[in-house]
Amino acid sequence: MNILSFLKQRELAPVMTETEAAALAMELGDISGFEVYPRSIAAAHNALFFLAHRGTDKRLGVLSRGDNPALTDFAGEARDVRVNEETLVLRLRPTDHVNVVALRAALPYTAPQVLGLRKSAGCGDRLGLATPGHARAVRQLSGIAPIFAQQSVRENARTGRTPQQVLDDATWGVFQEGWREPWGADADHLKTPADVDAFVAAGYTFYTVDPGDHVDNEAHTAAHGVLVDKVQALPWDVLEDTPQALNKRYLGRTFDLGEGPELVFSEEILLGAAAKYGRAIAHTVQMSRHLVSRMGDRPPSTLRQVYPEQSRRAQGPGQGFELEVSVDETETPTSPHEHFFVASELKRLGVQWVSLAPRYIGRFEKGVDYIGDLAQFEAEFVKHVAIARRLGPYKLSLHSGSDKFSIYPIIARHAGHLVHLKTAGTSYLEALRAIASIDPPLFREILAFAHERYGEDKATYHVSADLAKVPAPDQLADSELAGVLDLFDGRQVLHVTFGSVLERFGQRLKEMLAQREEVYYAALETHFLKHLTPFVAK
Ligand SMILES: [Zn+2]
Repeated sequence: MNILSFLKQRELAPVMTETEAAALAMELGDISGFEVYPRSIAAAHNALFFLAHRGTDKRLGVLSRGDNPALTDFAGEARDVRVNEETLVLRLRPTDHVNVVALRAALPYTAPQVLGLRKSAGCGDRLGLATPGHARAVRQLSGIAPIFAQQSVRENARTGRTPQQVLDDATWGVFQEGWREPWGADADHLKTPADVDAFVAAGYTFYTVDPGDHVDNEAHTAAHGVLVDKVQALPWDVLEDTPQALNKRYLGRTFDLGEGPELVFSEEILLGAAAKYGRAIAHTVQMSRHLVSRMGDRPPSTLRQVYPEQSRRAQGPGQGFELEVSVDETETPTSPHEHFFVASELKRLGVQWVSLAPRYIGRFEKGVDYIGDLAQFEAEFVKHVAIARRLGPYKLSLHSGSDKFSIYPIIARHAGHLVHLKTAGTSYLEALRAIASIDPPLFREILAFAHERYGEDKATYHVSADLAKVPAPDQLADSELAGVLDLFDGRQVLHVTFGSVLERFGQRLKEMLAQREEVYYAALETHFLKHLTPFVAK
C-alpha cells in the first residue's frame, strides 16, 4: 500500500507488518525530514499519524489532504508536501498536552481504560521515558494487561511531576510503540480526598485508595480493655453500624472459604480486627464516595463486569474507573481474618473494588527480593486468595512488587488471573543501569551523591541496606559500575535516593536517556520479561 491509499482509511486500519511499517517510516521520513518510529504509524480519519524525532526533539506527525475536518484540534504549524503528484498537508506538532488530548480523541487506544479483573502489571515510571520499554516486554507475553501510568502522590512530589504529565508521558510512549491493547492509569496511594481531584481531571482510570494512616497498628498487640475502648471510639455513624450489630455479624459464626480453610471469629479476633481496621474502613468509604462524586457520569467498574476473556469491548476508553484498596504500607501484617473483615465491611458499605493489597507477612523492601519464610508466605497467601474469590472475586495486589522473584511463582500458582503486580522503582534502577554504560561519569556522581543522601532519604521507606557495603565510585572501574545495581545494598541505596538524585541530576539524566533511548528500552525489556514471565508460564 502506498501513502495515498492509506489516506482512504476512515476507521483505524489494522496494525501493519514490521516490513510494511519500516518501508512507510522511510517514506514518511523523507517527506518530513524527521526519523519516524515505524510502530507508531496509524492510519485513520483519512490521515496518517506517526511519531517522529530528530535527536531528542519528538514530534507528532499528521499527514492528510488539505481539508480534513477531523484534524482541527491538533495545534501547531502545517506545510504542503508533494506525494505522488499530489499536494498533501503535513503537520509536525509538538508533543504537548493540547496535542495529546487531540491524539487520544483521534486514536482511542492511546487513552487509558479500565482493565477489570484481567491479570495486570503496574509499570511505574518516575522519569516518564520508560513506557516503550515496558510495552516491548508486555507485548511478548500473553494475558497481562499493563498499567503504564502509575505514580503515587508521594512520588510526584519527589519527582516534581503532575498527574497530567505522568499520564501524557505514558500516552506518548504508547503511541511511539504502537501499543493498541487496553492499558490503565493508576492514581497510586491516594490518602486524602484532596489527592483525588488532580488525577480525576487528568483522566486516570484506576484509583488506589490508601487508608494506611487510619490503620491502628497498636491494636495488633493491645490488651483486651484497650481494644474494647478502641472499638467503642470508632466512627459508628460513618460505618452505618453499631457494636451490637457488628458482633451479630461475626461472633461465633464460621465462614467457609470453599477451599479448605474456615474462618471463625472469636471475640478477641473480632475486637482486634475492628480496632485495627475500623477507621481505615470508614476512610475508604469516604474516599470512594468522594471519587464517585467527582467522576460524574463515569460509573465505577463493578467486580463482575469485566472478565479476562470478554473484556475488550466491555468498556471503551474514557468510560468508567476502577478502585484498589491498599493497606500494604502498614507496620503489621494483615491476617486472613482481618482481610476477610475489611473486605466484608467494605462490601456491606457498597464500595466496589477490583483489587486489594493486604500487608502480607514477611518483608517487602524496596528494590530487592522478598525477605521471609516462603512456606509461611504461601500458607497465608492461599487463604488471601480464597477470601478474594469468596468475597469478590477481586485481584490481590502486590505492592512493592519489584524484584520479588522468589514469591512470583507462588502467587501465580494460587491466584491465577486474580493478581495485580505493582512495580515502580525498578524502572528507575534500570535507567541507572543504562546510565552506567552510556555516561559513566554521571553514574559516578549519582552514586557518590546517593551515599551522602541515604541516611536521610531512607526515612519513609522499608529498607535495611548497610551503606558500608555499597562501593564508593572511586573503588570501581567503569566496567564495574553497573554491578552496584546487582548488590542488595547498592540497589536499596540507589532506589530510595531517587528524589534527591532527580532534583540534582534529573535534567542530565533524562537528556542522556533520551539521546540513547534504545539502551534504556533494551534494559527495561529484559528486566520486565524477568518480572512478568513467572505470571504467564503455566
Ligand atoms: Zn504500595
